[in-house]
Amino acid sequence: MNHSVDEIGDEHIGTSHKTPLRGDAFVMDDELKIKLIEKHFREIMHVLGLDLNDDSLKGTPNRVAKMFINEVFSGLDPKNMPEVKLFENKYNYNEMLVEKDITFFSHCEHHFVPIYGKAHIAYISNGHVIGLSKINRIVQYFASRPQVQERLTMQIGHAFTEFLGTEDVAVIIDAHHMCVSSRGVKDVNSNTVTSFYGGKFENDEQSRIEFLQYISLD
Ligand SMILES: [Zn+2]
Repeated sequence: MNHSVDEIGDEHIGTSHKTPLRGDAFVMDDELKIKLIEKHFREIMHVLGLDLNDDSLKGTPNRVAKMFINEVFSGLDPKNMPEVKLFENKYNYNEMLVEKDITFFSHCEHHFVPIYGKAHIAYISNGHVIGLSKINRIVQYFASRPQVQERLTMQIGHAFTEFLGTEDVAVIIDAHHMCVSSRGVKDVNSNTVTSFYGGKFENDEQSRIEFLQYISLD
């Protein structure tokens, strides 16, 4: 039984593109969540045999709890979704817009260790454009969850499709998984690449090639 759980963890098999959240995920407020995580993390450290009276360690459970809720897993809560403001495409720029090399940090949901890398986003406006910094913020929002890379890619792709009101959206994520480099097979050189192609990017090879050419430019 445990064997198959380990296998799924290491093979990084994703399920649906929705993060598997319980219906009551946000009944508890953030303050209470921090208190509970602090308590349980202290317990984990205690079981490991660490002396929680030590000056260097005693603040760790609270620090970890705050980091989980306010930073690295803040993207679980829809209230933290960046507000998206669209602008009219006044210049009638009808070509693709590519925002490349967006650095992001996430955590693998099977081991809770970091995934980090670059996201490249492209879209073709159908009348509206989005502020460039919002593109980064949306990527970081979905990355701030326990994730699998396939799901992260799809969540970002679906979000831009919805916000921009166009199917013409492409996402490529090129990421490094610390659960592969720092443990397990300990391969420090491998990266994982995933893609999402909608609309023209899916149906028109030329659009896809153009996008790939932009992101390979230095
Ligand atoms: Zn992992």
